[in-house]
Amino acid sequence: MSDSTPLHHVWQYTDTDRDFWLRHLEDWVPDEIFDGHIHVFDDANRRQPMTAEMRQSYWVNELSYSHSVADLERIIKIVWPGRRVRHLCFGWPDLDYDIEASNDYLAENCQRNEWSSLLLTPPTYTQEQVDQALKQPGMIGIKPYYALISHTPEHRDIHVEASIFDFLPHHILEVADHHHAWVTLHVPKSARLGHPDNLREIAEIRRKYPQIQLVIAHLGRCYTLPHAQEAFTPELAADDGLYFDTSAVLNREVIRLALTRFGPDRIVFGTDNPIFYMRGRRQWQGRTYRNRTSHPFYFNRDRESPEIEGAYTLYMYEMLKALKDACNDVGLNRQEVEGIMRNNSLRLIAQKI
Ligand SMILES: [Zn+2]
Repeated sequence: MSDSTPLHHVWQYTDTDRDFWLRHLEDWVPDEIFDGHIHVFDDANRRQPMTAEMRQSYWVNELSYSHSVADLERIIKIVWPGRRVRHLCFGWPDLDYDIEASNDYLAENCQRNEWSSLLLTPPTYTQEQVDQALKQPGMIGIKPYYALISHTPEHRDIHVEASIFDFLPHHILEVADHHHAWVTLHVPKSARLGHPDNLREIAEIRRKYPQIQLVIAHLGRCYTLPHAQEAFTPELAADDGLYFDTSAVLNREVIRLALTRFGPDRIVFGTDNPIFYMRGRRQWQGRTYRNRTSHPFYFNRDRESPEIEGAYTLYMYEMLKALKDACNDVGLNRQEVEGIMRNNSLRLIAQKI
């Protein structure tokens, strides 16, 4: 008899997921996990209600529902059976939310679980604001994002071609450098990490602010192998102090290339939940990819057969399996796997002053 447990939003945790975990992950996933990229937020802190029109304009909006500290405390017991899991939490980087309230919420609630958090930093934040926030226990760094430049709900990606310094300005970088803080950088540009402006600006940040623990999110948004091959340059490879998180990357070949070019000590695991509680699988073709899923979302018009959809598991499990396969491909030992899954993150957090 099948047994389903409500997980998040429309998603249930089912026997298919239990079987997938036992077959592919139970023997590989270490006992202690650190998820270095997770969004934790309460829709009570929304300033603007999410409308049906907004949900239909961008697939992530159809998946973005409250993911509070209490939700996460409950969910980790389901999706990480028998594991001790800690997180690096940050809010939903969207000016539809009250950003100050979102930041305060994490500062007040993460500590009880020994979780850490990052401050969402609109570029208008002053040095004093960032400095005060980074003095709070557990607040170990910052999460800038180009959507925090200005409120433009009708054009989600209006700032995607921005310079990094437009949303992560020098006055904030100076404070982060002073605190030896962790900075999770979601790179702009539709060309992704490999855009020459991104590569030049990252090199400038590394040169001017060497005390920052700079972590490039989503392997530089390189979800396809051609994007990764363009972006993982010898210059980035040569910079031992530059880190990458694996969140939202389900592509084994991309992860394998990152492990080969950068080495396992520079890779930190992250999920990007709650988005990756979604059920389904991702397919790649050239420089594009397609998210397959089993819920009748507005964005989900091109469905697979019921047999195939019935075998879907959580994207976060597909992500873990891709990471496991890539680690095996390059012959990582247990210590290196435990580094990616926890210890590399703890080492970066320990730098913060
Ligand atoms: Zn994210």
